[in-house]
Amino acid sequence: MFAHRRSSKINLNKPMKKFIPLSLFGLLLCMLMSCAQPSTSTPSALVSDAQATPLTITGSAPIDTIKPVAINKLELPKIVAGENIITHTAYTISYNAKYHEANWVAYELTKEETCNTFPRAKQFIADPYVTSISASDQDYKNSHFDKGHLAPAADMGWSALSMKESFYYSNVSPQRPEFNRGIWKKLEELVRTWAYDYDAIYVVTGPVLTSNLPTLGTHQIAIPNYFYKVILDYTEPGIKGIGFILSNQASSNSLSSFAVTIDSVEKLTGLDFFPALPDAQEKTIENTLCKNCWTWTSTKTTSTKIKAGSATASASTQCIGITMKGDRCKRRTTNENSCCFQHGGF
Ligand SMILES: [Zn+2]
Repeated sequence: MFAHRRSSKINLNKPMKKFIPLSLFGLLLCMLMSCAQPSTSTPSALVSDAQATPLTITGSAPIDTIKPVAINKLELPKIVAGENIITHTAYTISYNAKYHEANWVAYELTKEETCNTFPRAKQFIADPYVTSISASDQDYKNSHFDKGHLAPAADMGWSALSMKESFYYSNVSPQRPEFNRGIWKKLEELVRTWAYDYDAIYVVTGPVLTSNLPTLGTHQIAIPNYFYKVILDYTEPGIKGIGFILSNQASSNSLSSFAVTIDSVEKLTGLDFFPALPDAQEKTIENTLCKNCWTWTSTKTTSTKIKAGSATASASTQCIGITMKGDRCKRRTTNENSCCFQHGGF
């Protein structure tokens, strides 16, 4: 079904890119470190500033007029010469050999792929395509940091290989447990809801990597202060994009309070998202924040009770999920991804 996806490595074989242009890098560093900056350089102000610049739409969006065109690998950010790009079956990654983790992980997530057909993997392993230093179990041991997935395992359960790939160390960054298991997890669940509701979305996610970050373990894995996600819904009706910048700490704030334009995430990271879009579309999608264009509550159900002999029962199918024992799930479902609630149904 997903045979078009292939695992390979692109070796651009050129000098290492500078991750962030020097001027932007300096500014960013000062903002993050509050060095010689006025009081507006606090982390919360950083996010507020990012939100203040863009065109913010609260009603219906002007982006409704955008018509999609066929684009291959639309999820990929702009790739710079010398960048270490690894293409896995499930996602593409830009690996940062200086900080020993990803600059970004990019993938398409379809409605069908929200079904976790295959059980969650149990062990993190080194990415076989990473030739520089990689994090290891030892780095995280007794660190009080979680191995925080960038592409979530629950987005990658649609094949045994994609699940295995999601547990590569190249796909994780050090996250505080209260962040990884709290607001970050909520955001991941919301993104899956969008993939289900909008049929398919494009996701780019990663840590915000800067100099002078604290590090973890003997391999000195950078501990990011911030993480980001950008999402593109390129299906009609309602083509739209949105970004998120979250601090690596617990938060009880609403997810919508972290929403920013994609432009804002570009400013913070120095990355160029969705460069394959036609220029006019890219500009409009990335400088528009239309919070009302997105659903903010999960449509996920917590149980599937289907009465035998009912109309619902006759319209239902057997869940395509596989149990931890390796058997086909016996639950019946009417979910459009053919999955019961436990395997990722909605
Ligand atoms: Zn199931």
